[in-house]
Amino acid sequence: MAVRYQANKMNEDSDLMYRLLVQSVEDYAIYMLTPEGIIANWNAGAQRAKGYLSDEIVGKHFSCFYTPDDQKKGWPAHGLETARNVGRYESEGWRQRKDGTQFWAHVIIEAIREAGVLIGFAKVTRDVTERRQYEQQLLAAKDLAEANNERMTALSQFLDTVIANIPSSVIVENAVSREILLVNRQAELLLGMPRERMLGKRPQDCLNQGISDYLNKQSDECLRAEGLHKSEQQLITPIGERILQTTASMISGSDSQTSYVLMIADDVTDQHAAHARIHHMAHHDNLTSLPNRVLFSQRLHEALKLSKLSNRLTATLCLDLDNFKSVNDALGHQIGDELLRGIAKRLRFVLREEDTLARVGGDEFAIVLPNLPYLEKAHQIAQRLIEAVKPPINIEGHSLTVGLSVGISMATGSEDTPEHLMRCADMALYEAKRNGRNRYEVFRVEMDEAARKRRDIELDLRDAITGKQLRLYYQPITDSAHNEIIGYEALMRWNHPVNGLIMPLDFIHIAEETGLIHSIGAFALHEACHEAASWVGEQTIAVNLSPVQFKNSALLSVIESALTESGLAPHRLEVEITESVLLDNNHSNVTTLEKLKALGVRIALDDFGTGYSSLSYLRSFPFDKIKIDKSFISDMHDSREALAIIRAITGMSRSLDIQTTAEGVETDEQFRRLKEEGCSLFQGYYFGRPQPSESRLTGFAPVDLSLQCAQ
Ligand SMILES: [Mg+2]
Repeated sequence: MAVRYQANKMNEDSDLMYRLLVQSVEDYAIYMLTPEGIIANWNAGAQRAKGYLSDEIVGKHFSCFYTPDDQKKGWPAHGLETARNVGRYESEGWRQRKDGTQFWAHVIIEAIREAGVLIGFAKVTRDVTERRQYEQQLLAAKDLAEANNERMTALSQFLDTVIANIPSSVIVENAVSREILLVNRQAELLLGMPRERMLGKRPQDCLNQGISDYLNKQSDECLRAEGLHKSEQQLITPIGERILQTTASMISGSDSQTSYVLMIADDVTDQHAAHARIHHMAHHDNLTSLPNRVLFSQRLHEALKLSKLSNRLTATLCLDLDNFKSVNDALGHQIGDELLRGIAKRLRFVLREEDTLARVGGDEFAIVLPNLPYLEKAHQIAQRLIEAVKPPINIEGHSLTVGLSVGISMATGSEDTPEHLMRCADMALYEAKRNGRNRYEVFRVEMDEAARKRRDIELDLRDAITGKQLRLYYQPITDSAHNEIIGYEALMRWNHPVNGLIMPLDFIHIAEETGLIHSIGAFALHEACHEAASWVGEQTIAVNLSPVQFKNSALLSVIESALTESGLAPHRLEVEITESVLLDNNHSNVTTLEKLKALGVRIALDDFGTGYSSLSYLRSFPFDKIKIDKSFISDMHDSREALAIIRAITGMSRSLDIQTTAEGVETDEQFRRLKEEGCSLFQGYYFGRPQPSESRLTGFAPVDLSLQCAQ
């Protein structure tokens, strides 16, 4: 009995101890549920975990610990069901405390049976929120590490692709061992070797000596020169002789002890060739391959610098071909171009090695003669150039002759600039052409003055056209009876606001050079026709045409409109042309003359006997009239030759039935002799001076009577 009591006592004590133990556990919520899920007891851990006091919760259904969402999903019933069926249910999930806050719980529900009958459930819940957080951080870190790893792999592959495709050759060596560690595709092509045969080897162990020496030199220089070395060098490679522009730089590895040499080599061979071509094109003339104006200026500049140091002379020559344009116009550009090439060769042949011959325009050349011992040397060379051009040159069956005019300027002082010398040589060239071409002239200061004057006249002439300063004066023409005025020649006068009256001789050649002659000529035609139409009577009106006007295809329509607008009968208009219009058998000019003649306009050959003077011109076109130049009239008295020429002209004209006008008749004696020689018309101060339309001479006083009165 005592033993039994003792055993019962021990059992009771053990239960008590066990209950006390369970109740005092604070880290775990441990409590019992009835088979229906009603909370049967509560321990300190449960109170701590869920915030309920024992009195508040015992007797309630345990589902109140679940979130409304989980309750809706039936999780509490599922837990009990599982434990009932398999004896144990274990899971993790969110649970709610009394105050509504949540925690992550690890839950075990265990079924308790006595003699096979379910008497309830033991429920153990632990707050594992912190552990879960830690686990989740670990997971995130793992994901991040994996993502980074993928990114690094992708980046590495990307870099490999980039390096492989860089159009430059890329080679990386270990800075100490000099083993080749990286070779891209371009470097394989340049070195003519697959990378497998180079990687891990030093250049001298796998490449030919020339190339390995080159690579080793780049590395040496780079390491010597604080980690960077640039070079450009020609190298014989398996793909031929190439110019390489190489940059070698030192790069440090991840640890401080390892460093590498990165070499990037660009093949600049083609670039160099293109530069050379562009340079040549920028400095040379395409047609002749001679230097152009740009290179010419540089050479002249250099020559001037040298001459200052050496006390030797420098000459600048401007050259212009005479008659080139007519060859070009008549035979076409192709032959013109060939001619230029041929002439260029001849010119070059005359010159010394150190001289520069340049083509600076269509048929214009320029020469620098540096290092001359004396002035006359330049003259000798100029003369030799003229002689070299003279002989006919044969191109495609045409025997072509052109002339050469040369202007020379000598550098005289430190103020000489290339531009100034060119300008001076150009003025001397102008003078050479004015003095009859096929010759040279040396620049003199007066030429500058004359050029300035020409420029002033040119500027003033433009104002003159717009400012109505140009007027026509009319000089009478009579016949041998000297009874009436049968016509007038219109002569232009410039009434300059400052310089007074200016004669055609002083401005027409400038108008011709500048092209202003076209407007001036059109004005003269319109004005003369207009004024003549207003006169009483049927006198003819003669208007001078410049050869330059024939270059303008509008000439014919200008004359037509002058006639139409004025209403002047075409047969009253006479145009005076000079022989040069017919020079070189110019067909288009002859066609223009024929069209004029067809209009009814009369054509006179002016200043006959001067210039090229060939009687054959008289046969080349059916002129209505020939005007004998006044120089023959004034010389006639003293010169048998002058008289002979007059006689030849009048004789020829008679036989061709052409009228002749003697110009510049000043005395009764001249008039008498010219009548005897058979001249048909007369003009000169003896009969009347040129006057404006309103005050022009309209008739003659009886001559003999007036002379008798005077005597
Ligand atoms: Mg005339």
